[in-house]
Amino acid sequence: TSYHKVLEENRLLYNQVQDLKGAIRVYCRVRPFLPGQSNGQSTVDYIGENGDMMIVNPLKHGRDSRRVFSFNKVFGTTVTQEQIYADTQPLIRSVLDGYNVCIFAYGQTGSGKTYTMSGPDLTTEDTWGVNYRALGDLFHISKERSDSIKYEVFVQMIEIYNEQVRDLLVTDGSNRRYPLSSVLSYVSSLTRYTLDIRNNSQMNGINVPDAFLVPVTCTQDVLDLMRIGQKNRAVGATALNERSSRSHSVLTVHVRGRELVSNSILRGCLHLVDLAGSERVDKSEAVGERLKEAQHINRSLSALGDVISALAQKSPHIPYRNSKLTQVLQDSLGGHAKTLMFVHINPELNAFGETISTLKFAERVSSIELGAAQSNK
Ligand code: ADP
Repeated sequence: TSYHKVLEENRLLYNQVQDLKGAIRVYCRVRPFLPGQSNGQSTVDYIGENGDMMIVNPLKHGRDSRRVFSFNKVFGTTVTQEQIYADTQPLIRSVLDGYNVCIFAYGQTGSGKTYTMSGPDLTTEDTWGVNYRALGDLFHISKERSDSIKYEVFVQMIEIYNEQVRDLLVTDGSNRRYPLSSVLSYVSSLTRYTLDIRNNSQMNGINVPDAFLVPVTCTQDVLDLMRIGQKNRAVGATALNERSSRSHSVLTVHVRGRELVSNSILRGCLHLVDLAGSERVDKSEAVGERLKEAQHINRSLSALGDVISALAQKSPHIPYRNSKLTQVLQDSLGGHAKTLMFVHINPELNAFGETISTLKFAERVSSIELGAAQSNK
């Protein structure tokens, strides 16, 4: 009967949430060949049911030509955006239960980070990425619960470029071309509102005290903010497209819920982090700004890897202070927080070296939990 079906679904969902509690999960996604690249041979030879994959280098022979990696899940080229989100959804629900959640997109430029997080085209819902589906769910579930919990939702958006944090939602007095006031009519009261929030009830989960916190009530509000943020991200960049792949962007959705019966407050936040491209820059080619950017990116990505693997190893010392990114996310990495990292693979042969280093990074942040992760599978 349908009743039993619902029960069963709830049980499955509950198990999934339990499974994710406190865990660091690593999902690998393989990008398909793009039109025009279709005559290439894929370096991904095999994807197993249990999160295993085999990478081949067709230019080599024998044992050296193959490597097997193992993650929580591996998604092949035919997996849809909907299927990707289905394995992410339990985390989103837990934000409304008061957990801090980080979702990272890692990979070399062009490997599909933006595709997973945002999608290729905002006008078609079928291809919406994790960001939009997550926000839709957050608002949907909070409405479902409105009889017992009253939720308020706030958004922050920052970028980290060369170890400097910049607020992407600054309102006025800034040199930004796209101030909030150009889009949101309630913006004049925003400064006051932000101050109130800060004075009265600290939001937790992100350590950027002076970044704007914008109240939102529906997915469309957040989409508007994201559009402003994206535009602001590009302003001042020497080469517009480059900039976005050379900086980390962090969209944070803060949730504050008041239980109507007990009057107690719960807080959770969701960080959606689009990391800078992980590709190593050829030292002989990079000079000046480019070299500086590359060094900052390398250092901050390896600092992130160090923090996550220290957490997974339950090390007494977690090196949060080694990068801005890990400082900013400190309250949301470790403790009861949940982390999901999507690592992205470009299957082209000429990306083989980057593919291996991406998978090694992913292995480093996940393998320590292998015992637990494997028994969960
Ligand atoms: P990144 O953000 O890592 O630089 P993008 O997300 O921009 O990479 O992806 C590069 C190109 O590949 C884009 O044209 C994108 O639409 C396409 N692409 C990435 N992943 C997929 C996928 N899973 N299915 C179809 N096209 C994809």
